[in-house]
Amino acid sequence: MTYLDSFSPRSYAEAFGEFISQSPTSYHAAENVARILTDAGFVRSEQTEAWSGQRHGVMVVGGAVIAWQMPQTFTENTGARIIGSHTDSPSFKLKPVATSTVTGYSQVNVEVYGGPLLNSWLNRDLGIAGQIVTTEGERHLVKTDAVMTIPQLAPHLDRGQNDDLRLSRQQDYHPIWSCDEASVMDYICASAGIDAEQVAGTDLFAYDVTPYRIYGGAAGDDFFCAGRQDNLTSVFASLEAFLATAQTDVEHDDVLIFVAFDHEEVGSGTPTGASGPILESTLRRIVDATEFAGDEGYWRFIAQSSCISADAGHAINPNKMDKHDPAHHPILGGGPLLKLNAQQRYATDAIGSATWLRAAHEAGVSTQEFVSNNDVPCGTTIGPLTATRFGMTTVDVGVAMLSMHSIREITNPADLLAMAKILHAYWIGA
Ligand SMILES: [Zn+2]
Repeated sequence: MTYLDSFSPRSYAEAFGEFISQSPTSYHAAENVARILTDAGFVRSEQTEAWSGQRHGVMVVGGAVIAWQMPQTFTENTGARIIGSHTDSPSFKLKPVATSTVTGYSQVNVEVYGGPLLNSWLNRDLGIAGQIVTTEGERHLVKTDAVMTIPQLAPHLDRGQNDDLRLSRQQDYHPIWSCDEASVMDYICASAGIDAEQVAGTDLFAYDVTPYRIYGGAAGDDFFCAGRQDNLTSVFASLEAFLATAQTDVEHDDVLIFVAFDHEEVGSGTPTGASGPILESTLRRIVDATEFAGDEGYWRFIAQSSCISADAGHAINPNKMDKHDPAHHPILGGGPLLKLNAQQRYATDAIGSATWLRAAHEAGVSTQEFVSNNDVPCGTTIGPLTATRFGMTTVDVGVAMLSMHSIREITNPADLLAMAKILHAYWIGA
């Protein structure tokens, strides 16, 4: 019995829905992970502090978060078992001059972040969330309720709206937020108790305020619908698995690493992205605090390490069967996906596949394979980046999803829970 066995698919999905509501941006997600782990006894550290050597620790760096559990004894055979995910999702980011006035309306100036399914953002109730830094260097996380919406032209005014929708990222995606002349930044600052005169910098994003819903099928729990499931499905599953692992008596010989990077949706090449130094510097500091300090000990440790890169995957859309490979039809409810790609857009190889299948077997849940239709380009994720950087066996996996990158994505509650169970099995030694 583990902590995860206390969940039904529905109760797990409800807990996940709450986590999503509290995590409208990468910054909020990272802070929520740290709060949940410190509540469970993990010690929070800062990158700038001397390495604390805590057995159970967590560190937030902007929109990224990394946590670790040390084994009872660190030996020459110790490696790391890493599960990596990402905290960010496609969205719209506010520009420095946040408000423009057009024919009496005040509009919010935004640029596109990542690759959203753009038209899904039209006619929605949008809030604004993110970080504001003052001239004093104080950092505030802010989150408003619904404040703006992107109005779409009615079909009467453009007959092409239903047959040939072509929208400009610059022209057509400006939310309106007021019927009068009013500064949206003044509003955000007032609601967060910040003096607007003191604002020096902002990283603010649009998000959908609509709460999650669970419905579908005779039992009413076939679909879990909410925003940001790419990739909070993996952040939350690895977080719950990490908590379950910390609570078991099962001895592990390896260092267990939870890491959720920022900026995957824009290519990961940032200080807090998967191509940045967070994972490497943490692994290095962990080894250097042991008797195996130094390059030789570090590289030996790395050679005995492995990584699961967890990110959302595509379930087959029954309206577009031909976009999938005819022999590989991952469906909602069929279990988490093992993702394979010959061009190495996913890092999975046969050795990684075996690790994954062993963990799924231990967890007693089924999994499915995802491989692209050869005529459809394949996405990528953090797996190939960490695999290339460290040279360790890496396996790309994820929860099957419909409507990926839409403002509201669709998964299956049993798949969500199964993902957490497999990740837990990997961490306890499968
Ligand atoms: Zn994505």
